Amino acid sequence: MSANVVLALTNVESAYGPIKAIRGVSLKVRQGEIATVLGSNGAGKSTILKTISGIIDPRKGTVEFRGEDITAKDPALIVQKGLSHVPEGREVFPLLSVHDNLMMGAYTRHDRDAVARDVEAVYGYFPILRERRAQDAGLLSGGQQQMLSISRALMAAPALMLLDEPSLGLSPLLTREIFEIVVRINRERGTTLLVVEQNANMALNVADYGYVLENGRIVMEDSCDRLREKDDIKEFYLGVK
Ligand code: ATP
Repeated sequence: MSANVVLALTNVESAYGPIKAIRGVSLKVRQGEIATVLGSNGAGKSTILKTISGIIDPRKGTVEFRGEDITAKDPALIVQKGLSHVPEGREVFPLLSVHDNLMMGAYTRHDRDAVARDVEAVYGYFPILRERRAQDAGLLSGGQQQMLSISRALMAAPALMLLDEPSLGLSPLLTREIFEIVVRINRERGTTLLVVEQNANMALNVADYGYVLENGRIVMEDSCDRLREKDDIKEFYLGVK
């Protein structure tokens, strides 16, 4: 694994009973970049992320994070190693306050000053969360819950963050706002990101490098600048004739 590769999947296969969701996926994420996996509904995007973060054990292949084999390791251990997963559908703790949700994200950290600084940083990115900090998370709007879900993952101070469909169910305006913050997190905190998205337009605009997933297989990969110019991508993913 070369020095600047943070995450490497090699020939990973994962299945749900008889359903093979991903079939020999290999990909790399480099230090400091935003990488994206594009693919339509059911292509296997969420399964890739769940396999990386240890929620699903692959049938074959390996997952390496910062040079260490983390294949099928315990999800809590993987978080401790610096890899946070923001799942699809924003799983916040609905009966806990916004602030307590954030603190849950920091449960493995012991440096109180650093945690307090990160809470401030998060409220700086999403001021609405500061306003709502005493409110139950279940009362937030969908967009605010997405912000909280990203923020909670940030509270673990990850080196790599996995984001599953941050745009799901959000208006174009909110989607743009959230992606702007994702880019700031990457640039300002140096957090490496792997984002899976159906919104190819948005993903290709913010990411550096992209993979295209179809039926559980990577069928194309390139820099996002070059992917945007490919006819297949324009036609099937960007809706440009
Ligand atoms: P979506 O955007 O709809 O989540 P996706 O690209 O993330 O799509 P996955 O959720 O990874 O796709 O699903 C890949 C395949 O695995 C699909 O055929 C899906 O029906 C199947 N699948 C996903 N989760 C399960 C499950 N818990 N049990 C059985 N099959 C599943």
